[in-house]
Amino acid sequence: MAFTGVIARYRPLLDVPSHIYPVTLLEGDTPLIPVPRLAEELGGHFDLYVKFEGMNPTGSFKDRGMTVAISEAVGRGVQAVICASTGNTAASAAAYAARAGLRAIVIIPEGKVAAGKLAGAVAYGAEVIQIQGSFDDALSLVVSISEHHPIALVNSLNPYRLEGQKTAAFEIVDTLGKAPDWLCLPVGNAGNITSYWMGFQQYHGIKHSGLPQILGVQAQGSAPLVLGHPVEHPETVATAIRIGRPARGEQAMMASEQSHGRIIAVSDDEILVMQRRLARNGIWVEPASAAGLAGLAHEVKAGQLDLKGLQVVAVCTGHGMKDPDIISQSMPHPKIIPPDYSILEKVIEGDK
Ligand SMILES: *Cc1c(COP(=O)(O)O)cnc(C)c1O
Repeated sequence: MAFTGVIARYRPLLDVPSHIYPVTLLEGDTPLIPVPRLAEELGGHFDLYVKFEGMNPTGSFKDRGMTVAISEAVGRGVQAVICASTGNTAASAAAYAARAGLRAIVIIPEGKVAAGKLAGAVAYGAEVIQIQGSFDDALSLVVSISEHHPIALVNSLNPYRLEGQKTAAFEIVDTLGKAPDWLCLPVGNAGNITSYWMGFQQYHGIKHSGLPQILGVQAQGSAPLVLGHPVEHPETVATAIRIGRPARGEQAMMASEQSHGRIIAVSDDEILVMQRRLARNGIWVEPASAAGLAGLAHEVKAGQLDLKGLQVVAVCTGHGMKDPDIISQSMPHPKIIPPDYSILEKVIEGDK
C-alpha cells in the first residue's frame, strides 16, 4: 500500500477529531540508518541507528506534528495560524498552511534563525516577523495573540503537534520490532521528548514492545532542565534548541525519570564535533540534531553509560542543508586555483 502520511498510517492511535481530513505532504516514514562505524568510534559493541528526521518534507521532524495541527485547525474552520519559532517550526507551519490555503504568521528572534529555515518560511509564503527578543519572548507573544484572535497556535503547546510527533516512536518500533534500549535526542522546547515518551508508552501498552531509556540533551548555554531554572539569555550554535523556558519542561523531566534516563548538557564544541562525525558517516544534520549523539558520546566517555550489547537510536531532528553558515564558519573553505592541470595535480597530491 502506498504511504500516505503519518495521519493515515497511524490514525487509530492518534487522538484527533474523527471528522478531520489530513493536510499532508507525506511526512514521516523516515529512514532508520545503521551507523556501525560511528558506534565503533564511540567505543563499539552496540547497535547504533540514526532516525534521520531531516528527510521530512521541510527538513525536520516538525512536519509530523504540523500535519496534525494544521489538519485540526482546518477542520474547525480556522483561517490563519501563528507560531513562534527558532526556524524549523516556521518552515513547517508555512508549508502546511500553504498546502491548506491558510494564512501563516511566524514570529522569530531577530538574527538568530538559520538562513535556510528563514528562506523556507518566506518561500512557502508565510508572513515572517522578527522580534527584537528571544524565542521565549516570541512564544509568550503568540500565545497571547492566539487567545485574543481566531488564529490557531501551532507551537508544541498545541496538543495535536504531540499527537503527530508520537508517530516517530511508532516507526522506530515498527522497524526494529521492539523499542530500542536507549533513545537519545536534543531537547529545546521539549515537545519532542514528550511525544516520543507518549508514543513508546502507547505502543508498549498495545504491543508490549518495551520502553527505551531516554537521554535528553541540551546545549550548555541553554540548559534550563539541567540547571533546574529558566535561562534568561540562552546561547548556543544549536539555534533549534536555543530555548530558556521550555514549554513542555515538566513533561520532559517526567519522561526522563519514568524511562530511567536523564537530561544532560553538552558544549557547543561537542555538538559541532558530532555534527562533523555524522557528516563523515554520510549524514549531514544541523547542529541541534547532533546534540543527542554528542550527549551519548559524552556519557560513554565519562563512564556513565555502558552500552555493550544494547540497541541505541539517536534522533537526528533536522537536515544540515538549512544551516549552511555554520559549515562555512567551522569548516575549511574550498581552495581556489587557476584552471590548470599541473596545479590541480599538485594540490591533489598534497591533499593525500
Ligand atoms: C524543534 C527542534 C528541536 C527541539 O525540539 P523540541 O520539541 O523543541 O524539544 C531540535 N532539533 C531540531 C532540528 C528542531 O527543529
